[in-house]
Amino acid sequence: MIERAREVVSAVLARGEVEGVLALRATEGAVGPHMFLRGDDLEEMRLSPKYALPTVLRIIHSRAPGARLAAVLRACEQRACVELAKRGQLDLGRLEFIGLACTAAEAQACGCAAPRPSRVDIGEQAEGLPERPPLRDLPPVEGGARLEFWRKEYSKCIKCYGCRTVCPVCACSECLMEDWDWVKGGELPPPFATFYLIKAYHMADRCVDCNECEAACPVRIPLTELYGRLTRDVERRYGYMTGRSVGDKPPLLTALMDKPILDKEEKEAGEKEAGEKEAGEKEASNVVAGEKGPGAGGGGGGR
Ligand code: SF4
Ligand code: SF4
Repeated sequence: MIERAREVVSAVLARGEVEGVLALRATEGAVGPHMFLRGDDLEEMRLSPKYALPTVLRIIHSRAPGARLAAVLRACEQRACVELAKRGQLDLGRLEFIGLACTAAEAQACGCAAPRPSRVDIGEQAEGLPERPPLRDLPPVEGGARLEFWRKEYSKCIKCYGCRTVCPVCACSECLMEDWDWVKGGELPPPFATFYLIKAYHMADRCVDCNECEAACPVRIPLTELYGRLTRDVERRYGYMTGRSVGDKPPLLTALMDKPILDKEEKEAGEKEAGEKEAGEKEASNVVAGEKGPGAGGGGGGR
């Protein structure tokens, strides 16, 4: 497979439409991201382990606004790029995907819901995988018991920030998980509601099922299980799938801006009520202004 990858990358570079191809390279006993340029020796190129390449692309795009690049990306990484593009953090017009298909074993290890890149350039499409792998059977699952389950899991947290740092779609310029107004320093475990639920809320319409957070967590909290439940809920309620298309509006952002959760009648009634309230307030302030103004019977009147 690596030979095929070298052929594909070499052909993309030879076409001259991109300045470089982001992929992995083995050097000094480790594998990390590398920008291959035309004429480079591709012998050291690698396809694994998985690395947070969308994060690297986001940083390059923000610092080199004109750069046109290609990148060797797995399906979840492509979805992460789509989610970043929706939020203005990556320009897909300047990025060519070179699709790397995960093997069935890789997909199963991640519990990936969709290991199929938009186009397979390297590897072969894994066959026979379920559309949606079943969620792990985590007892108990209902009401307060469910909350207790997650509180107990998160009580193991050592606040290393690994889950946040490795996540390809966690890209707020200022992270609330590091803001002492929300998460006071020096406390372990960190506060459940602000530390974990802020991230869970942010992930509900952007997690791309890459499993990186769970793989990074040193105390093995089943993080993707929680985020997977949330994204499935959003999919069921809004028909929205993360990473599918850059044209899909994230429903939670939309809910804040356009209020699609209100039906039309509710929305109109709410707007009417707000309009009446505003008119009433204006009228009241005019009356008060009139009483206090120069024409009122008080001391400020004519000399
Ligand atoms: S699986 Fe974890 S690391 Fe990957 S996108 Fe979802 S929250 Fe982020
Ligand atoms: S990776 Fe695990 S231990 Fe580290 S902050 Fe995230 S949940 Fe906590």
